[in-house]
Amino acid sequence: MNLPTDFRGSRQAAEALLEAIDPARYGATRNHLDGAVTRLSPYIRHGVLTLAEVRDRVLARGGGGKLIQELGWRDYWQRLWRQWGDGIWLDREPLKTGHPPEAYGPDLPADLSAAATGLACIDAFATDLMVTGWLHNHARMWLAAYVVHWRRVRWQAGARWFLQHLLDADPASNNLSWQWLASSFSHKPYIFNRANLERFGGGRYCAACPAASRGGAAAPGGCPFDASYEWLQARLFRSPEPGEQALPPGGLASVMQLTVRGVSGGKIIGEWPLQVRAEVWREVWLAPQRMDRGQMLQPSLLTARTVDILKEFNPPIAADQDLSGFELAQAVQAGKPISRKDLVERSLVRKGQFVDAVANEGGLNIRMRAQAMEAGPAGAVIRVRNLDSQKVFFAQVINENQVQVRF
Ligand SMILES: Cc1cc2nc3c(=O)[nH]c(=O)nc-3n(C[C@H](O)[C@H](O)[C@H](O)COP(=O)(O)OP(=O)(O)OC[C@H]3O[C@@H](n4cnc5c(N)ncnc54)[C@H](O)[C@@H]3O)c2cc1C
Repeated sequence: MNLPTDFRGSRQAAEALLEAIDPARYGATRNHLDGAVTRLSPYIRHGVLTLAEVRDRVLARGGGGKLIQELGWRDYWQRLWRQWGDGIWLDREPLKTGHPPEAYGPDLPADLSAAATGLACIDAFATDLMVTGWLHNHARMWLAAYVVHWRRVRWQAGARWFLQHLLDADPASNNLSWQWLASSFSHKPYIFNRANLERFGGGRYCAACPAASRGGAAAPGGCPFDASYEWLQARLFRSPEPGEQALPPGGLASVMQLTVRGVSGGKIIGEWPLQVRAEVWREVWLAPQRMDRGQMLQPSLLTARTVDILKEFNPPIAADQDLSGFELAQAVQAGKPISRKDLVERSLVRKGQFVDAVANEGGLNIRMRAQAMEAGPAGAVIRVRNLDSQKVFFAQVINENQVQVRF
């Protein structure tokens, strides 16, 4: 593929970027589009560099707290992905925008995928995404917030669009960032305004933007971002009507205490406690007999049963989820639903196991015997020890007894 981008796919190119990291400048400028960000994400995503390697290089330079924190975010999203699997495509919590899920459109509007919204900033971000395959973090946040909150499109449609084009496309970092912006995995929705865009975007979009020339967000056809945060919040989100009952803060439960408020002529005339019972029936996976730790989870070994999931202490896993890549982290009693807490991703290679380590470099194939120093599922990068030289190196798990060495 011949992308108009300066990313080059080799360990050498990754090393050059690693060498150029300036942790202090990164901390001071990372939110600016022309800030000293590392541009390492495609290399980390595709296993050319490990997170630990980047961390060690940053620490060796001294400081780098902010950068280490960002590496931590990547690690955290990956761990959640392991735990939730395809559950990262589902809203993790109710939205805090005041709008029901059905208020959001299912598809990306055509003017966005054509980079033709008429807003200079948004069209530039959309073009960069689709032509170069890379966007600065702040541009990702602005573009995603515009899709979800201004255009009221479901975050999943935007997430699919990003994954289709990003060189660093990673379902965990991508989807969970979209959920964070949308407020299905955070306590409030993320929005921005023109002042924020101009400050961190270096003022490069608004001067030539036709919308900006027509005025602010209140003007017909004006810049939809040119307003105070208070004005935008009131415009984009919905507060509950007087007397309208939001869900209790803890979410749905079998028994809930609600407060009913009586309103007459715009005045509150009384408040009364009301206890309600709720049931949510779903088909979930269940252990037909006692299942032991380490047991694989092929569908043929499980039973699907419809249960009231609000009665279960740990949320059970829906029966449409494929669990064949997992094993039990602990024993499960007969008749008990399987929950996420019971699962770990199936390790293909176990700690201490002897494996074939294969290295391919410029047409040369090298094969050696090595011992795994840690367990890992398919695709994980683990430490292995060469049995002849006793040297320790990183390799990616390919199958039950083989790892691939990366240079
Ligand atoms: C809507 C949205 C979608 C995103 N989709 C992806 C994606 O598909 N793949 C992806 O790798 N990152 C994604 N990110 C996170 C982040 O934008 C990129 O990792 C970062 O911009 C990559 O540029 P960089 O390497 O110069 O990052 P730097 O700021 O230099 O950070 C160094 C490394 O830390 C990690 N990192 C930095 N910021 C974040 C973050 N907010 N979340 C998780 N890890 C982070 C990345 O591995 C990055 O390479 C997304 C963020 C948003 C808001």
